[in-house]
Amino acid sequence: MVEYLSSLGVKTIYGDNIFSTDANEYMNQQYSVPSWQDYTEGFIKAKKRAKKIGVFYGSWLTVNFHTETTHNCSSCIPLPRLTTDGYVSSCDVTSLGKDGPEIFIYGKWNPDRKKIEYNIKQSVLLNSRSLENLDRCKHCSIGPYCAGSCAGKLYLKTGSLFTMDHETCKATKKLAHYLPLGMGKEEYEIEHP
Ligand code: SF4
Ligand code: SF4
Repeated sequence: MVEYLSSLGVKTIYGDNIFSTDANEYMNQQYSVPSWQDYTEGFIKAKKRAKKIGVFYGSWLTVNFHTETTHNCSSCIPLPRLTTDGYVSSCDVTSLGKDGPEIFIYGKWNPDRKKIEYNIKQSVLLNSRSLENLDRCKHCSIGPYCAGSCAGKLYLKTGSLFTMDHETCKATKKLAHYLPLGMGKEEYEIEHP
């Protein structure tokens, strides 16, 4: 895939490991979902190949490897995504306010007043998902380069923003073993959304 996308002129590629949740568990029945070991081994091979041909290849598990952070992504600032049904979500997994997960919704368009009304309490809750508040991550040796991993995936898998997913954690640590941390951005690497 890296070689094919490169042949089309693509310079920056991100991928993610497939995971099953209550919402998509049929995936496990229809497809063979690779283990975290298969994903990381495949990623490392593809990353090496991408580097050789001048392409940036990243994983959502590695988005913070270039610089230290306390918040995994803009979802935990939070920064807004306006959904097509008029809600403000902090995370791409909540792409429709009515479908949820509700936890990422912190605002709603009020058509009568013609303004977005923010829920400050929810915004504060989302912002509190930072490394120092993640008991299972705050003493991790690579904590500042992961900050608890993707909140959306974690919530879909566990129902909590403040716990830790073992498979994702093990995969991130394995990739951190092979890739440099804190070295700044690579060529063609783009900011995490
Ligand atoms: S899915 Fe993960 S990476 Fe994407 S916006 Fe949500 S928390 Fe951030
Ligand atoms: S414990 Fe795992 S999930 Fe938490 S910061 Fe470290 S690598 Fe990331």
